[in-house]
Amino acid sequence: MPVGTRATVKTLSPKEIEEVGSEIILGNTYHLYLRPGHELIQKAGGIHQFMGWKKPVLTDSGGFQVMSLKGLRKITPEGVRFQSHIDGSYHFFSPEKVMEIQNALGADIIMSFDECPPYPATKKYVSESLKLTLDWAKRGKIAHQNSKQALFGIVQGGVFEDLRQESAERLMEMDFPGYSIGGLAVGESKENMLKITKFLNKILPKNKPRYLMGVGTPLDLLNNIENGIDMFDCVMPTRNARKGTIFTSKGKMIIKSARYKEDIAPIDEDCKCYACRNFSRAYIRHLFSVDEILGMRLATIHSLHFYLKLIKAARKAIIESNFKKFKNKVALEIGSEKIV
Ligand SMILES: [Zn+2]
Repeated sequence: MPVGTRATVKTLSPKEIEEVGSEIILGNTYHLYLRPGHELIQKAGGIHQFMGWKKPVLTDSGGFQVMSLKGLRKITPEGVRFQSHIDGSYHFFSPEKVMEIQNALGADIIMSFDECPPYPATKKYVSESLKLTLDWAKRGKIAHQNSKQALFGIVQGGVFEDLRQESAERLMEMDFPGYSIGGLAVGESKENMLKITKFLNKILPKNKPRYLMGVGTPLDLLNNIENGIDMFDCVMPTRNARKGTIFTSKGKMIIKSARYKEDIAPIDEDCKCYACRNFSRAYIRHLFSVDEILGMRLATIHSLHFYLKLIKAARKAIIESNFKKFKNKVALEIGSEKIV
C-alpha cells in the first residue's frame, strides 16, 4: 500500500496511483483528524469521494503517531491525551474515539487503537502495554459501528515471543477479520523482526490477512512474505523518490549523482512505467538539480511501480511454488542497500 498520509500520495494524482498498479492505499487517522478533520471528510462523502480515489483505502489507528509525540502525550487506561504537533492544542484519543474517527473517514479496512511501545523497552513495560492494547482492542470492537469496514486487531508484544503469542491468541479469541503486526520496524534488528514474523506465522490463522505495519525495503518485503505476511505499507518508495533515491531492479539509484549527467538510458531498462518509457536518467537528474516538481513525480511513479511489480512477481512465484528461488534471485540482483 502506497502511503497517502493526508489523503494524497505525495506528488501523484489518484489516476497516476492507479496507473502504477496500486489496488489499495493507506491514510493516517491522526493526520486526517487534525487536518482537515474527520467530520468534514464524512460530510464530503467519505475519504474515497473526498480524494477522488475509487479503490480500497486502509486507515491506521493513529496509535503509532500519538505515541511518537513523546513529551506531548500522556497514556492512561482510558486513552491518550496528546498535544497536536501543529499548534500544541490538546486532544484525547480513546479506542471509542478512534473508532468514531475511522467510521467517519470511511476506509474499507480500519485498525484498533493500540499502544506501540518504543524500542528498546523492558519486558515489564511491553507486558503492561500489551494489556492496555488488548483492552483497547475489545473496546474498539464494541464501538465499531460500520459493518462495511473490516476492523483489524493489532498484535503487539515487542521482540518477546511469549508476549506476541499472548497478544495473537487473545485477539484471535475476539475474532477479527484480519490481523496487523505492529511494533516492528521501530529500531530493532532485522533478525529480530524476522524472528517475530516467523514465529507469528505459526499462530495467526491462515485464512485471514496478516498486515505488517510500516515495512520496508524490497528485500524486507520478500523476507516477510516468506514468513506469511500478506500486506505492507511503507513510505520508503515515495519518500526516498522525492529525495532522489530510486529503487530499481539492480539496486538503489541516487539520481542526483554526477554519473547520470549525460546518461540517456531510462532509470530502469527493465521497467515499463511511464517514467521509464518516456524519460532518461539525464532528464530526471536535470529536473532534480533545478528543483522541478516533475522530477519528484517521475521518481515516485517509477519507485511505486517497481514495488508493486515486485509484489506481483512474488505472488506469481508463490502460485508456481517457486518463491524461494525467486527471492534468492532478487536478493542477488538488488541486495538490501546496494547502490547502482
Ligand atoms: Zn520505471
